[in-house]
Amino acid sequence: MGSQEVSSTVDWQGKHVTVAGLGVSGVPAARALHERGALVTVVNDGDDARARAQAAELEAYGITVRLGDGATLPPSTELVVTAPGWQPDKPLFLAAAEAGVPVWGDVELAWRLRGAGGREPAPWLAVTGTNGKTTTVRMLASILEAAGLRTAAVGNIGVSLLDAVLGETEYDVLAVELSSYQLHWAPSLRAHSAAVLNLAPDHLDWHGSMEAYAADKGRVYEGNTVACVYNVADPATEDLVREADVEEGCRAIGFTLGAPGPSQLGVVDGILVDRAFVANRQKQAQELAEVTDVNPPAPHNIANALAAAALARAFGVEPAAVRDGLRAFRPDAHRIEHVADIDEVAYVDDSKATNTHATEASLAAYDSIVWIAGGLAKGATFDELVTGAAKRLRGVVLMGADRELIHEALTRHAPEVPVVDLDRTDTGAMSEAVARAAALARPGDTVLLAPACASMDMFTNYNKRGEAFADAVRARADESA
Ligand code: ADP
Repeated sequence: MGSQEVSSTVDWQGKHVTVAGLGVSGVPAARALHERGALVTVVNDGDDARARAQAAELEAYGITVRLGDGATLPPSTELVVTAPGWQPDKPLFLAAAEAGVPVWGDVELAWRLRGAGGREPAPWLAVTGTNGKTTTVRMLASILEAAGLRTAAVGNIGVSLLDAVLGETEYDVLAVELSSYQLHWAPSLRAHSAAVLNLAPDHLDWHGSMEAYAADKGRVYEGNTVACVYNVADPATEDLVREADVEEGCRAIGFTLGAPGPSQLGVVDGILVDRAFVANRQKQAQELAEVTDVNPPAPHNIANALAAAALARAFGVEPAAVRDGLRAFRPDAHRIEHVADIDEVAYVDDSKATNTHATEASLAAYDSIVWIAGGLAKGATFDELVTGAAKRLRGVVLMGADRELIHEALTRHAPEVPVVDLDRTDTGAMSEAVARAAALARPGDTVLLAPACASMDMFTNYNKRGEAFADAVRARADESA
């Protein structure tokens, strides 16, 4: 199969396709391919009750499922379609490479199947980066909607990509969130325009190295037709634009929290301005919105808004729609979410700050903070984070498996900051953390849950951790009312 073919030109009839991994992307992929006449075999490592239930459902359609062995490539395979999370060095992929069999991820499959049924496929505006993807894609969808376009936030969030390209709903344009895993397996994806928001070490165990991680993120720019949007403050993102092979006439567009140069969007006197998509960018700037239109107006979130605005402007959206879309945008839960004010102290839930890069942005958004942190560090170090935030820390409450690592960094770089070390992981732990934080806080402070760690040592996921925090805060608010 050549790299530029789309569904209408791929004859799926009788093609042997191996789908690697049941689950969120595997089950719909298997069904979509089966419906097009492919001979589908699903292989899956696990063989638990859930896998068996999913297997039974697929077998009822006539799809072959092999449980308990995701390593061996079925001999007649002509194409592998993989779940994005599968590690690239798995034996299945090595066998595929040896046999010259292509491997597609869920995004590649959606890209190839778009336009099926003779419909004009909607262009994709793509967003990737270490942090801020979901927020930016939602802001972008909100702006596109404000412009009267039929759109959806898809990819890692909301509607699945496959549903978006195969479903009944017709779209003018899609706002697509892409992870580095998904990009790794999407060789022929060609977005209309794309943004890389930032690049910090994350998921390096999967990609093998920072270079490999960056290279996978950089794929999002390949073949862009109108704009490659990069972060002026993060030169690695601009490097990726330089290395990308784009369509003739495609422009590099920067976003910055400072005053923008030509071909950039930025901020002047509290106004988001566009010096890229204007008639005379040497001399003119177009007002898009006020900083206070961004919700919440924290620095990293203004950067997200500028990236979303750049993609929307690249698609031809008018300035007023950028403003209206940003005003209408509501952040997802557990992302710098203001829970309550108690005794003039603000309580903010940023449970989604699961790595140090996100937490750095979060801590930079407040002047005086009682910081609640800890959990699973995933190999991270905390020296830089603590050094950058030391001056703004009123106190710290640590919990979770790797709290000692953060404590050591605090001892090294901020020895004067009081630290409470919570040695408990039971269901009451978060209530105590909030109580201890409240005791440290003074009027005007912010108690900020921004753990810099994953949650799974104590909670099912970051949502549950954020809910535990918000419940504890609300219980205190009720008491003090
Ligand atoms: P993603 O989808 O990339 O995980 P989210 O929008 O869900 O991103 O935000 C994840 C976390 O990253 C949040 O805790 C938020 O505070 C932080 N964050 C959001 N935008 C940025 C940014 N531009 N730079 C750094 N951190 C950010």
